Amino acid sequence: MDNTLYNKKINCPVCMKEFEITKVKSKTSKVISRDSDFCVHYEGINPILYDVLVCENCGYASLSDKFDEISDRDIKTIKDTIGSRWNKRGYLGERNIDSAIETFKLALYNLQIRKAKAVEISKVCLRLAWLYRYKNDEKEKDFLKFALNSYTDIYMKEKLPIDKLDESTCMYMIAELNRRLENFDESVQWFSKVVSSPSARNNPSLIEMARDQFQIAKQQMKK
Ligand SMILES: [Zn+2]
Repeated sequence: MDNTLYNKKINCPVCMKEFEITKVKSKTSKVISRDSDFCVHYEGINPILYDVLVCENCGYASLSDKFDEISDRDIKTIKDTIGSRWNKRGYLGERNIDSAIETFKLALYNLQIRKAKAVEISKVCLRLAWLYRYKNDEKEKDFLKFALNSYTDIYMKEKLPIDKLDESTCMYMIAELNRRLENFDESVQWFSKVVSSPSARNNPSLIEMARDQFQIAKQQMKK
């Protein structure tokens, strides 16, 4: 195993059994660049590949920072729907993009079964799009679309901020994902909303990004 990785034992909140996970030592990944939708490119080990934890005993899967946040009702739902037909499969050790995609799809399936909030779904779908982007796979677009639907849902139905996602960042994501999906009219409208939004004022770097992306979207629209 790569020496920037290490294994650690944790307890599954669903089946209560102990199992091992692989983690990336902090500060070992070097950021090379960030895309306009916040996708990070790393030199060496990419920590995003290790973001989803999967319990090998019951199939419960979740983003690592939310792994322990599960209600009694959801524990029962996961046990009944996934646990009962789970073919024990672990994701210990080094992951490649394909095995990471499997873990994110499991996490997405878990969220769907739990009827989770759009904010949870958006995070997982956006990362699935990034994983497909790393391998230049057209399926990136499918997951950008799912992420866009979730961000639109959040904007319409939720009281922001939730989970570090504030209103202006949510609008920016709707604008940028529309641009990446070549819906330039919508994209331009949403970028102007970000720039003129009072809630964006305390985030000058976001306004700057929105201005840049607005120009790019306009140029793309002309073509
Ligand atoms: Zn478990």
